[in-house]
Amino acid sequence: MAFQHNNRRRRGKSRLFIILILFLILLLSVFINNSINNNDNYMKVSSSSDNHNRDQNSNTPFKVVIDPGHGGKDVGASSASGQYEKDFTLSVSRKVEKLLEKEPQIQVFMTRTDDSFISQESRYRPKYANNLNADLFISIHGNTFTNPNVSGTETYYYHNNSRHFAETMQEHVAEATGFRDRGIMVKDLFVIKDTKMPGALIEVGYLTNPEDEFKMWADEFQNRVATAIVEGVKEYIYGEKGIIAKN
Ligand SMILES: [Zn+2]
Repeated sequence: MAFQHNNRRRRGKSRLFIILILFLILLLSVFINNSINNNDNYMKVSSSSDNHNRDQNSNTPFKVVIDPGHGGKDVGASSASGQYEKDFTLSVSRKVEKLLEKEPQIQVFMTRTDDSFISQESRYRPKYANNLNADLFISIHGNTFTNPNVSGTETYYYHNNSRHFAETMQEHVAEATGFRDRGIMVKDLFVIKDTKMPGALIEVGYLTNPEDEFKMWADEFQNRVATAIVEGVKEYIYGEKGIIAKN
């Protein structure tokens, strides 16, 4: 009797064991299924980027904020010839705006369209982009240094999710300027730190370098830079590694 009883207990234990194993298999299959589904979604997103189409939310255009650096009493850098960075940034930004307006999938917004002053304390620039729920933020600047020989194009970003965007912009803009490609850099600047979407601050060139500055005021140069910025945006949105799907 005692033996039989033990046997039953053993059977009971092994049944419990089998149930446990079955349960584990069930859990595992649910987990595997889920990850396959995730992969499917990922593939759907990438293939839609190839077609230049947006997925479910495709009817909403990409919101791109252009931020002309400085303005008003905040003149920015003073160039080698005594001109102001704020005028350079606005001129290039307006050209970018006009070009982006031609893109049906893109809606362009400007933090300023004239010589108005925007206080840093108000944090208006990043707030403006965040309130719009913008997809991209581009701040345009001209650089300055004590040594007039220093030359080059560089792009700053802050958050990791902006790195690829900054890289893409730098690649296009540095090629357009023909200046030394100084690469991308993490920099603690509030406009790119406080913005929630991928953002880049482009230092097109050194306004303190007389030769570069001369080129930078030329309409043809500015058009080339503006075109490069638009190309960069389009590559980022639609390109191979493009984000296409809104997060
Ligand atoms: Zn600046």
